[in-house]
Amino acid sequence: MAKIFCIANQKGGVGKTTTTVNLAAGLAKLGQRVLMVDLDPQGNATMGSGIDKRQLKLSVYDVLLESASVTEARQKSEKLIEAGCGYDILGANRDLAGAEVEMVDIERREKRLKLALAAVDSEYDFVLIDCPPSLSMLTLNGLCCANGVIVPMQCEYFALEGLTDLVNTIKQVHANLNADLQIIGLLRVMFDPRITLQQQVSDQLKGHFGDKVFETIIPRNVRLAEAPSYGVPGVVFDPSAKGSQAFVSFADEMINRVHKMLH
Ligand code: ADP
Ligand code: MG
Repeated sequence: MAKIFCIANQKGGVGKTTTTVNLAAGLAKLGQRVLMVDLDPQGNATMGSGIDKRQLKLSVYDVLLESASVTEARQKSEKLIEAGCGYDILGANRDLAGAEVEMVDIERREKRLKLALAAVDSEYDFVLIDCPPSLSMLTLNGLCCANGVIVPMQCEYFALEGLTDLVNTIKQVHANLNADLQIIGLLRVMFDPRITLQQQVSDQLKGHFGDKVFETIIPRNVRLAEAPSYGVPGVVFDPSAKGSQAFVSFADEMINRVHKMLH
């Protein structure tokens, strides 16, 4: 059975997409079967996995509106397969921006993705969902099918403030729609140990959230930022870069966490 994780944080530019594609590549590198779902109309995770969002015949939009199955809409990227980090991609593009409105009249619209993913459950070990920077119907669809949420965050002064809204939303979804849902962990990203404030916020996070903070820290690393323009995650673009190595360690940490969840 696949374990499903949302990568969510309603702030933009905090590293959700970078986390999603690099964790997907890291898990694949470690032999896991992975499906990456892009739930952001910006389609950055799609492009960053080597799939041209402008040429998608079928996307997650068609899956949400039930005009295609996951099996029909998913894609493979040659570049990722060649690198030994192949994962499947359920892509997104601007079409998805209209889905919210088009789904208004649909019954149980927040469960559409969950139902669609159930059909491919046995084919994957991990499903990773890259959420848009909002707490919208799209994010809700992600949260309704997930076992857990991974929250990437920068160790900045206001980081904790934004977390309150996300934690409240997750609590509500947990209470009303998906009893499985929990925050698996907070992932410190774009970390620069030379900045005292980041070190302080990082310590505060640990003090406040304890075990919910992942051991792995993702450093600020320009190779991770360069990779998307080559249509691959950093883990594939430059496996020896510090940021890429950190994401493979994070993949390993996730495998161990899932193991603990099951036993
Ligand atoms: P989000 O999906 O939350 O909007 P992104 O993953 O797109 O955030 O990241 C925002 C920007 O920061 C992108 O330009 C990305 O390349 C860059 N970035 C993300 N993580 C890192 C990192 N660890 N080191 C350097 N740049 C990063
Ligand atoms: Mg993004």
